[in-house]
Amino acid sequence: MSDPKIQLKNFSQSELEDWVKSRGHKAFRGRQLFQWIWQKGIMEFSEMTNLSKELIQKLEQECSLELSSVSQIQTSESQGTSKFLIRLNDGKFVETVLIPEMNRVTVCLSSQIGCALDCDFCATGKMGLKRNLTSGEIADQLLHVRRFSPRPISNIVYMGMGEPFQNYDQVIRSANILHSDLGFSHGARKITISTSGLVPKIMQFAEEGHRYKLAVSLNASEDNSRSQIMPVNKKWDLDKLIKACQHYTRTSSNMLTFEYVLLEGVNDSVEDARRLMKLAGRVFCKLNVIPYNEVTAGYARPSKNRISTFLEALNRAKFPVTVRWSQGDDIDAACGQLSTAAQQEE
Ligand code: SF4
Repeated sequence: MSDPKIQLKNFSQSELEDWVKSRGHKAFRGRQLFQWIWQKGIMEFSEMTNLSKELIQKLEQECSLELSSVSQIQTSESQGTSKFLIRLNDGKFVETVLIPEMNRVTVCLSSQIGCALDCDFCATGKMGLKRNLTSGEIADQLLHVRRFSPRPISNIVYMGMGEPFQNYDQVIRSANILHSDLGFSHGARKITISTSGLVPKIMQFAEEGHRYKLAVSLNASEDNSRSQIMPVNKKWDLDKLIKACQHYTRTSSNMLTFEYVLLEGVNDSVEDARRLMKLAGRVFCKLNVIPYNEVTAGYARPSKNRISTFLEALNRAKFPVTVRWSQGDDIDAACGQLSTAAQQEE
């Protein structure tokens, strides 16, 4: 049975202020409460020492801070990447990944349980969509990981389970908690939201002027092969997608990141690289090439030679190109490998 108490972690800072005021207290108590929850990560109202006894009593009677708990942590011995299996109040599970690297520590957040977009190479897509996460459930993932990480977290990416822009409002609300001075205080440029190409949402993101970084999963350079591996392309083809990306970079003056998962025999030829150079060249961007981690039958990572040849063909690109070897593939924590299909409690 679901908890009948008010889940305060799903409130924005201003909603907390309103709630506190509605109970007869000053608005700044709401700010203090927000700070205790997210900045200090305190779970017990009784430990919020600058709140009055009367307010603490009301909070204990009416509210809850329990949204999720860590059920399992797996750490890759070879790469140091950790995968967190997080249990939500309704018995469903999501996964979150902590990726410590030399110069940065990245957390990869999930935005949905499963995903409806059904990209052919992706384990999450094979689950179908179970439900959207709330803003509190998304930000709670970072609280859990922050407690565990020996080093401070520097970068946050919305590239875990789900299509963030299919849960647009909750994702933006959660990013605001991550960014807020009284929340996690992460710079907007250290928070990246990724999409598989939901054109209307890219336009909305541009219009609303968010400072968070945007990444778009391209994964092909022509419509036929993109539609085959990413059904979303049938609705918004490459021309529409590129135009939306151009609109975003012009409106925001921000560079956009294209992600390109390299799949053997699908999108890894020299011809693909040349077309990609032309296509991505229409946008103020950088390109991340991600050699595929094998998760679904029918797709494979290209050989080292083929990857090198592909990258050489991109040599003359006018935009920066980087290769990201996904971390954590030995614990199924790498890009496209997250799935909690086996754990869901109905
Ligand atoms: S790649 Fe992303 S958008 Fe596509 S099915 Fe997987 S989680 Fe969804």
